[in-house]
Amino acid sequence: MQGKPVAEQEIGKQLLMETVAYAESSVCRRKMLLNYFGEAYEPENCEHCDNCLHPKVKFEGKEFIAMALEVVLAVKEKFKVDHVANILMGNALTSVKSYKHHLLDVFGCGSDKNIRFWNGVLRQMLVLHLIDKDIENYGTLMLTEKGRNFLPIHIQFNFLKIMSMRKVMMMNIRVLLATRTLLLMKNFSLYLKIYAVSLVRN
Ligand SMILES: [Zn+2]
Repeated sequence: MQGKPVAEQEIGKQLLMETVAYAESSVCRRKMLLNYFGEAYEPENCEHCDNCLHPKVKFEGKEFIAMALEVVLAVKEKFKVDHVANILMGNALTSVKSYKHHLLDVFGCGSDKNIRFWNGVLRQMLVLHLIDKDIENYGTLMLTEKGRNFLPIHIQFNFLKIMSMRKVMMMNIRVLLATRTLLLMKNFSLYLKIYAVSLVRN
C-alpha cells in the first residue's frame, strides 16, 4: 500500500483490520455478516457456522474495553491504534514520552496483557462500533455514541461534566449577547426619547 495517498492507505488498513477482526471473532458468522450489511439476525446460534458449531472460549471483555475507551479519551481522541496500545501496555516509547503520555493515570493500566491482546481488543471494538477511525485524520481513534454509552458511570460523569462546562460557556456567551442587545435597545429607546423631546421643543 506504500506510495498510495494516506486516506486510501487508511481505508486499505481498515479493511484488513476488519478481516482480521472477523477471523478472530467468536460471534456467529451469519450474525456478523448480516450486521455488516445492516441487517439483524436474532437467533444466538445459527447451528451452521464454525463459531456456532465449535464455540471458542470467551472471556469477559468489558473491563478491557472500558480501559481502552478510557485511554482513547485520555489522549483526547487524537491518536492511532498503536499509540493507544502502547499506553495500555505501559511502553514508554519516545513517541509516547514526546506527548508526556507516560505521565497519564491510565499509562500501563493494561500491562498484564501483551500488545497482541490489546490490538485484538481495539480491533473488536472497531468492529463493534464502540470506537471509530477518523480516516481523514490519519486513522486517529475516537469514541462513537455507542462507545460513550459503554463507559462506566464515573467516566461518563466526567464527560458530562466537561459537556456541561461547555454548555455553561455557551450560555454565558448567549447572556452576553442578550445583554448587549438589551443595551443597544435601551440606547435606542433613549435616542427615541431625545428625538421625541426635540420634536416637542421645535
Ligand atoms: Zn453461527
